[in-house]
Amino acid sequence: MSHSASVTEILLDLIAIPSVSSASNQAVLDYARQWLKANRWDVRTFPYVDPNGVEKANLIAMPRRHLESLRGSPAGVGSDTPAFQNSRFEHEDDVASVELALVCHTDTVPYSDDWPEAVHPKVINGRVYGRGACDVKGFLACILAMIGNLEVSERSLAVVLTADEEIGCVGAKRLLGEKRLYARNAVVGEPTRLHPVVAGKGYALGEVVVRGKAAHSAFPQAGRSAILDAATLIDSIRKIGLRVAIERHERFDPPFTTINIGTISGGTAKNIVPAECRFLVEWRPVPGQNERWVAEMIQEELARAQKGDPGLQATFEPIRIDPGFETDSQGKLAGELERLSGNATVAVAFGTEAPCLKKLGAETVVFGPGDMKTAHSVEENVPIEELQRCVQVLEELVEQICV
Ligand SMILES: [Zn+2]
Repeated sequence: MSHSASVTEILLDLIAIPSVSSASNQAVLDYARQWLKANRWDVRTFPYVDPNGVEKANLIAMPRRHLESLRGSPAGVGSDTPAFQNSRFEHEDDVASVELALVCHTDTVPYSDDWPEAVHPKVINGRVYGRGACDVKGFLACILAMIGNLEVSERSLAVVLTADEEIGCVGAKRLLGEKRLYARNAVVGEPTRLHPVVAGKGYALGEVVVRGKAAHSAFPQAGRSAILDAATLIDSIRKIGLRVAIERHERFDPPFTTINIGTISGGTAKNIVPAECRFLVEWRPVPGQNERWVAEMIQEELARAQKGDPGLQATFEPIRIDPGFETDSQGKLAGELERLSGNATVAVAFGTEAPCLKKLGAETVVFGPGDMKTAHSVEENVPIEELQRCVQVLEELVEQICV
C-alpha cells in the first residue's frame, strides 16, 4: 500500500482481504487505519464480540487538524497520539459532530470454494471482479483514494466504517445506538451506478414454525401434517402480499411492499407425516408504510386460523424489522450529488444502513460505483471508470459540503 496508490490498486488490495460477515472485519479496518493515519487522520475503533464469539469493530476517523481546531490546541499532538486523545471523543459520552460522514460497511456476503477469484481479484475489460468489488469495497477504495488526493485536513468530515451490514446492519445499529457521531449529511456507500439514492425500501424478516404430529404415512389420520398446515398459511401470506401491494410508492420498482418466502424446511422421511415445518417470511416495506404491518397481518391470520381450527399449532416470530428511508430529493446533499454525478436521483429496493443514519437526523443519500445486480454473485464487479468518477465526485462533494 503506497501513499499514492490508485483507486484500482486500493480496491485490489481490499478484495484480497477476506471479510465475510462470519469472520472478523479487523484486517480490513487495519488496512484503512494505516491509510488514514498516513494521511494524518485520527482513528478510533469500537470493538465488540458478536454472538459467535468473533471480534468485530466499527471505526470512526476524522482529520486530525479538524479535531485540533475543535479543541483549539494544535500543539502537542504527535503522530503517536492515541486516537482522539484530548479530543471531544475522549469521554464515553462524547459525540463527534461533522458536516459530512462517509459511511461504508466492511463485510461481504460469503462465496463458495469453487470461486477462487473471489479473493484473487482480476481486472477484465476495464472492470474489477471479485467478492466485494461493488458491495462495497469499491466505495471504500474511493474514500481512501479521495483522502490520499485531497487536502482534507481541516474539513468537517468523518469516515465511518461498520461491521456486519450484510447480516442486518448490526454494526451500524450498534455504533449509532451508542450515539458516537452526529453528521448533518451522510453518504452511505452501496453500488448505485453513481445514482444518488434518496429512498430505499426497508427490510424485515420473520419465521413461522408450524407443529403437527408425526405418524406412519399409511395412517395419516393418526397424525397431523405440519407441511400441509404450512401450505395453508403460505397461501394466506400470499394474499397478505396482495393487500399490502395496494399502497403504492411510485418511486420504486416494483412500487409496493413485496413479500418473499425464501426458505422452507420440514419433515423427516417420505413415509412419515411431518411433525414440524418452518419457513422464513421476508418483506421489504416501502417508506411511509408501517413496516410492522405485514407482521401484524401474519399474527392476525394465525389467530384467525387457530380459532377456526384449534388443532393448528403455529407461531410467528419477527427476527428483524427495519423501516425504509426517504430523503428530500430537493435537499442540499441530494442536489449536490445529482449535479456532481450528472445522474438523476432514484429509489432502490435493497436494504442499506441509510435508515440508521436517517434516525440520527442526517440528510442521507446512498451512492457508490457498481451495480447491485452483480453483487452477491460470482459476476460481482465494478467498472474502473465508475471508481474514478466516484473519487472525483467525493472530492468535489467534500469541497462543497465540508467547511
Ligand atoms: Zn452492501
